Amino acid sequence: MTITSVNPATNETLQEFEPLTKDDVINAIGVGRDAYLEWRQTSFDQRNSCLLKFAELLRSDSDIYARMITRDMGKRISESQYEINYCADIAEFYANGAEQFLADQPMNVEGVNAYIRHEPLGVLMGVMPWNFPFYQVVRFATPNIMAGNTVMVKHASNVPQCAEAIEELFADCGLPNGVYQNLFIPSEFVDAIVSDSRVQGVSLTGSEAAGAAVAALAGKNLKRSVLELGGNDPFIVLEDADLDQVIEHAVKGRMVNAGQSCVASKRFIVVEALAEKFINGFRSELESLKMGDPMDEETTLAPLSTEDAAVKLQKQVQSTIDAGATVVLGGDRPDRKGAYFNPTILTNVTPDMPTFDQELFGPVATVYVVKDEAEAIKLANDSSYGLGGSVFTSDIERGRRVAEQVETGMMFINQPTKSHAELPFGGIKNSGYGRELSHLGILEFVNKKLIHLG
Ligand code: NAP
Repeated sequence: MTITSVNPATNETLQEFEPLTKDDVINAIGVGRDAYLEWRQTSFDQRNSCLLKFAELLRSDSDIYARMITRDMGKRISESQYEINYCADIAEFYANGAEQFLADQPMNVEGVNAYIRHEPLGVLMGVMPWNFPFYQVVRFATPNIMAGNTVMVKHASNVPQCAEAIEELFADCGLPNGVYQNLFIPSEFVDAIVSDSRVQGVSLTGSEAAGAAVAALAGKNLKRSVLELGGNDPFIVLEDADLDQVIEHAVKGRMVNAGQSCVASKRFIVVEALAEKFINGFRSELESLKMGDPMDEETTLAPLSTEDAAVKLQKQVQSTIDAGATVVLGGDRPDRKGAYFNPTILTNVTPDMPTFDQELFGPVATVYVVKDEAEAIKLANDSSYGLGGSVFTSDIERGRRVAEQVETGMMFINQPTKSHAELPFGGIKNSGYGRELSHLGILEFVNKKLIHLG
């Protein structure tokens, strides 16, 4: 087995990488463990200077890394550029904030002199997806490195150029050998790593199936875990919303990364008073997207990440159409080379259809027409996922009331779900558990140790 970079805009093979053997992996765990014993002793200042350098390197060569993302997985070049700069923001946020987030916490208990100290745990394993190939890794690795842990990453097998470049960046910013290691391995090797007594935890961002497999491994081996999984985010439109703004956000919310984002708006739940106007406006905006080469700044609709992803999406969409959904727009693939999919709107999708509760990972929107706010909330909660969501209304108090009733980890009023370095990110239900980003993200893999001073 080789690990291959294929340009999804042309389906052309770009580069091949040799995977590690099981013995290499066992050695890598030892290297990570030895590095941990040294790294845990370093000061915040020392860690801070490495991660600030990491951010500086990202910014100064952002064009190179952005083009790498676009070559590996087909993201539009302006989105790739945004991703690189955002990664630099995240690295700086943790470089500058870690000491405060991990400061000793006195216990205000009468008659007790005690505090909580935050200590690193050891070697951590990260299993990462391809859709934001730099961001996902950076949001896992930087808080943990600042906390004094060391990390190993198994990146998705279709983004090896990015995986290799991230490891080089962490070496170039001055991190000692073994603090960050990229492992070119098949997913079957994750079992041996999580089972190894020298590894203290695992964080997976990816699909529900991969999350369940890794959570089972973590459970069996009593290892701490964080799971950031898929979503089927509701985008609720109430009758008092500003329709022009709603349509603009609907296009951005659904089409981010060609629709391949866990927190993309996926289920558009619109009250009947606005439904027809919404569907017409949304269709006309999606029709005007310009499909093309993701390296071209003029392109507004890029290919999916791989040919397999486009084939899988076509099957899901076709099965929904066969089950009786109405095609308002698209529904199929264009007649051109590459992993492209036409922008699609489906209506009349019902709970008995196979894809009702599945994530459609591409430029496919499902629109549901509901009677009122109460029905919108009920439908939003009729999902096994619970990642993000949004509600559109001109009345913020009403928006807050709705947001508080939707069963997700994140709710946004009058904008689609977004990621910010300073704000917690994560879901409930089958979207996983634990939080990344913000001060919460750095507390997932630390020992919150009680010191009682007697
Ligand atoms: P995926 O197929 O689950 O792959 C994610 C990672 O898990 C890859 O490195 C993959 O390796 C590995 N993997 C797959 N099966 C595994 C197993 N049984 N044991 C151990 N590792 C395994 O997901 P994807 O297609 O790359 O990413 C898309 C999914 O990620 C979507 O569902 C999306 O919503 C979700 N996502 C969630 C978040 C969030 O923050 N909640 C963010 C981004 C994406 P291989 O590549 O070698 O198969």
